[in-house]
Amino acid sequence: MSAGGIPTLEDLETELGSLAGKRILVRTDFNTPLEREGDDVRITDDFRIRAALPTLQWLQERGATVVTASHLGRPEGRPDPRYSMEPVRVRLGELAPGVELLENLRFDPGEEGNDDAVIAGLVEGIDGYVNDAFGASHRAHASIVGPPRRVPSAMGRLLQREVEILLPLRTAPKRPFVAVLGGAKVSDKLGVIGALLDTVDALAIGGAMCFTFFAAQGHSIGDSLFEPDQVGTCRGLLERAAEAIHLPSDIVGLTAEGEVATFGTRLPEGAKGLDIGPGSAAEFGDVVMEARTVFWNGPMGMFEDERFAAGTRAVAQAVANTKAFTVVGGGDSAAALAAFGLDDDVDHVSTGGGASLELLELGDLPGLAALREGRSGDG
Ligand code: AMP
Repeated sequence: MSAGGIPTLEDLETELGSLAGKRILVRTDFNTPLEREGDDVRITDDFRIRAALPTLQWLQERGATVVTASHLGRPEGRPDPRYSMEPVRVRLGELAPGVELLENLRFDPGEEGNDDAVIAGLVEGIDGYVNDAFGASHRAHASIVGPPRRVPSAMGRLLQREVEILLPLRTAPKRPFVAVLGGAKVSDKLGVIGALLDTVDALAIGGAMCFTFFAAQGHSIGDSLFEPDQVGTCRGLLERAAEAIHLPSDIVGLTAEGEVATFGTRLPEGAKGLDIGPGSAAEFGDVVMEARTVFWNGPMGMFEDERFAAGTRAVAQAVANTKAFTVVGGGDSAAALAAFGLDDDVDHVSTGGGASLELLELGDLPGLAALREGRSGDG
C-alpha cells in the first residue's frame, strides 16, 4: 500500500491473482482541448492521453483487456455529438492500440448525479477498476466513487504520482516552503489559503485576488476586480498571518482613460489593476528563489494580454530557475508555463487545478477516499 493508504496497481494484481484475461476499467481524464471547423473536430493537445499511457501499458503488458472511460467538455447530461469521444478514440487507437474507450460519461446525468444504475452499468463484466483521473477525483461522480465499492480497485500511475507529490507538501515540505497564489477568484481559493497558512513559511498573493485583500486593508482599488463579500474573511486571514502573507507593493493596470500605468497599492478612481508591478514581480521572485519548496497556482495578472503578462512571466521564470522542489497546480499556471516554454523546468505540473487545491486544503479527495475504503465503503 502506498501514499495515503491507497491500493496501487501492484496491489490490484495481487488481489486479482493475475491480470491475464481480466477486464479492467480505467477512469481516465481525456478531457482534451478540441478545435472545431464546421463538423470537423480535432484534438489540439494529446497531453492527457499520453499521460495515461504508463498505466494503460502496464495493464496490457500483464494481459489485461483495458477499457477506458472519461468525460469530455460539458454536454449537460445528454448525448451531444459535439462532445463525442470519437476524436479521442482515434488518437488513443494510435497511442495505445487495443484499448477500448466508452462514450462520454457525461452524456448521462447519472454520472454527475452519482447514480447507482450508472455505476452498475460501468462495472458490469469488469474484474477490476483503476482511477487515473486525478483532475476529476475531487468530484463525487459515479465513475470516480462508484466502482471502488463494487470491484477490486487501485490508483493508476498518474494519480499515484500526484498523491505522492502533493500530500507531503501538507506534512513534510522542505523549508522554507513558499506558496504563490493568483488568478481571478479569491472565493475559490480562501479554503486553500487558510490551510496553506498552517504550513507555509510565506504566501505571496497576486492576480485579481490581491484586490480583495487590498480592500480588507482599507486601500482604494479603483475598478479592479474584487469580491465584496469576501473582504471580511481576507481581513481575518491578514490578522492571523500578517507576517507570512506577501501582497504586491505595486500594480500595473489601466488608468480611467485606458492607458497602461504603474500604480502603488492605492489605485485612483476608475483605474483597473491587471498585473502585479515590476517591484512586486522582483519581490515575489526573491521569495521564490529563497525557498526549498514552491507551490504555484494562478497567474499574477491578465497574462493572456501581453501588456499584463510580465508579473506572471517573472514568477514562472523564478519557479523555473530555483533549485527548490517546484510544484505547479494545473489550469492557467500550467498554461502560462507552457506559453513561456518553461514547463520542462519545474519538478511537477499537476494535471488537476481544482483537485490539487482541494487535496492541499483537505488532505483527501472523494476519489481517493473511495479507493482507500474499497468495498468496505459500501452502504
Ligand atoms: P482563475 O481561474 O481564478 O485561476 O483565474 C485565472 C484568470 O484570472 C486568468 O484568465 C487571468 O486573466 C485572470 N486574472 C488574473 N489577474 C487578473 C486581474 N488583475 N484582473 C482581471 N483578471 C485577472
